[in-house]
Amino acid sequence: MIQYKTAYLTVFQSELYETTSTVIEGKEAIILVDPNWLPNEIAKIKEYIKLKLKNKQLYLVITHSDFDHIIGVGAFPEAIIIASEALKLKPNKKETLTDIFEFDKIYYVTRSYPIKFPHVNIAIDENKTQIQLGDLECTFYLSPGHTDDGLFFYIKNLQTLIVGDYLSDVEFPFITSSYLDYYQTTQLMQRVCHDNKVDLLIPGHGKATKDYQKRIDFTLWYLDSIKNNEDIEQELMKRFPFYQGMKAAHKNNLLLIKGRD
Ligand SMILES: [Zn+2]
Repeated sequence: MIQYKTAYLTVFQSELYETTSTVIEGKEAIILVDPNWLPNEIAKIKEYIKLKLKNKQLYLVITHSDFDHIIGVGAFPEAIIIASEALKLKPNKKETLTDIFEFDKIYYVTRSYPIKFPHVNIAIDENKTQIQLGDLECTFYLSPGHTDDGLFFYIKNLQTLIVGDYLSDVEFPFITSSYLDYYQTTQLMQRVCHDNKVDLLIPGHGKATKDYQKRIDFTLWYLDSIKNNEDIEQELMKRFPFYQGMKAAHKNNLLLIKGRD
């Protein structure tokens, strides 16, 4: 379904985990971010892009390598793919593909396109990398912490920030690579919001928002609380309607912080 729409921007939301796929339409280029999850959802996004593409160049931005965010890549073979250098160099790509095959096996899902790990054409290895995609002025930043190969980017024309799996309203932070990186990435996002005019922030899961400061504040509160070993489970249960389904991630965060990276 379409979660959010303006003249140049459409946020599709999957039935699964409120995962977003964003389409940005420029005059010379179209950017598609993290196409996902189910075959009929990806088919709809593909149809939508086909109508709009004409002779524009299609770019695919992959925010990080978790399998839900790369699951639709093979449906867009004509796209130029942008991701982090770390994603490009990821050593265990096969494991990510195995996650997709497993998911499809469990739910009897067949897809009309090949399952592929993204072949990265433009690799981002530095914060503030500016790239002009047709008429769209984009600035890319690295976002390690959730995974070690994340990126986020700002589109100046639309004053929009697309952050991948950070600053969600349906999930607390899932820290799978590094607590310190996660903290610093959140602070970097805050700085980028401060230094640029950001009218809209789009997370990888949950709703696009204009009121992103609340999300930043919550993330920093969460990170401080777990570091201080505070019991915040009641608060998490109150705030997140799907907490029961994700509480293992909170436990993992606590274990990770005990091991301290
Ligand atoms: Zn995700």
